Amino acid sequence: MPVLPETKSYDVLIVGMGPAGATAAYELSRAGMSVLGLDKQTHPRYKVCGGGLSVRIDNILDAEFKTVVEHTVYGVQFSYGGQDPFFIESPSPIAYMVMRDRFDYLLLEKARRAGTEVHEEEQAVGFLQLPDGVEVTTDRGRYRTKVLIGADGANSLVAQRLFPGRRLHRMPTLESEIGIGQAPVYPGQGKVLIDLGATQRGYAWIFPKTERLSIGVAEFRGRPASPKDVFDRFVRDEKGLAGLSVPRPIGHPLPLFNSAEAAQTGLVQHRAILVGDAGHLVDPLFGEGIYYAVRSGQIAAASVLGTFHDRRRTLLDYELAVAREIYAEFRVASRLARIVYTFPRLCHRLMHRYQEVIDLYYEVLRGKQTYQTFFRKAKGVIKASFRELLRETLSLG
Ligand SMILES: Cc1cc2nc3c(=O)[nH]c(=O)nc-3n(C[C@H](O)[C@H](O)[C@H](O)COP(=O)(O)OP(=O)(O)OC[C@H]3O[C@@H](n4cnc5c(N)ncnc54)[C@H](O)[C@@H]3O)c2cc1C
Repeated sequence: MPVLPETKSYDVLIVGMGPAGATAAYELSRAGMSVLGLDKQTHPRYKVCGGGLSVRIDNILDAEFKTVVEHTVYGVQFSYGGQDPFFIESPSPIAYMVMRDRFDYLLLEKARRAGTEVHEEEQAVGFLQLPDGVEVTTDRGRYRTKVLIGADGANSLVAQRLFPGRRLHRMPTLESEIGIGQAPVYPGQGKVLIDLGATQRGYAWIFPKTERLSIGVAEFRGRPASPKDVFDRFVRDEKGLAGLSVPRPIGHPLPLFNSAEAAQTGLVQHRAILVGDAGHLVDPLFGEGIYYAVRSGQIAAASVLGTFHDRRRTLLDYELAVAREIYAEFRVASRLARIVYTFPRLCHRLMHRYQEVIDLYYEVLRGKQTYQTFFRKAKGVIKASFRELLRETLSLG
């Protein structure tokens, strides 16, 4: 009879070592858990991503990640279909720009140093829920784990196999990176560009890095006839890109949060949980996912540790914490997205007129306001300005 290799067991097995998986791995390993982290690729690996991190990441990551920041952002240049540009500056940083190969590698190495056993070039291919854990099959072997964390990104196999009800929307995106060498970055030092008129119901961006520009388009609602046409038109109409040869863009789905879908599908299934993109934890207003990948990894780790230390606790604590901290914010961001992507031209003009609303939004990026407080205050600012305008008009009459 052939001798079957022994099945190794872990407290926690994590599929996917992007920011969500690597963060969960780090937190669990430093708390003394035995953790296996699998990734089907070898890090550092390329990831299609704008690499924009809102500054509130400072509140949840230690300063080590600053070593891979390539550009610090102090404001946004808004334009509409390449026209009507205006720049709204902030006195302090609002975002950092990173290349994902370096950023993700840094988080992965941090997890490895904390004790995570990392297997790269190993792809998880099957999962079986057991009464007291999960059996995971890969292209190299088989493992048992008390808890499985699905951190395998937008095309999550863990979600497909263990969360049968999850058939969630993902939006198409395209992105390209241009090397610019020593040439000055566009739209300028300390700036990023966002164009609300380049797509039907989304935006196009230029996010500068050291010696390169990340250029992309994403739809946030509806579905464009051809994302490639939208991308080509943006590159053609954007004067700052004139003369640059833009490499063919790469497509990747963006698993935006959707409140109706989130209400119907959970993030926990017996001994398995979903974090980051696998759980559709992406901000529906501007597509920020890295912060929520890191944060959900941390929340997941805390919940898993809770169940190991106290038998009365369950993994559902994770779902409740995400609902409280992240979904509550995403619901407001969804309302804002509905307004912005239904009336993009009007919003472009309003942003120009009510710059104090953008200043308030920058406070959200800095973690000084939440979406919930922002929404209340922004409504107040716009109402007060309308009242003033009305008074001025009446007194002129
Ligand atoms: C075009 C585009 C631009 C974006 N721009 C931004 C931005 O500027 N700012 C921002 O905050 N967010 C941005 N995002 C979103 C951001 O990229 C994601 O939210 C983030 O990568 C989520 O991290 P994650 O760890 O959940 O997943 P990922 O980073 O996708 O990591 C998943 C990992 O799982 C591995 N994996 C997958 N399947 C398996 C398997 N079966 N077995 C083993 N390993 C597996 C993969 O190799 C990968 O390393 C953008 C997304 C796109 C598509």
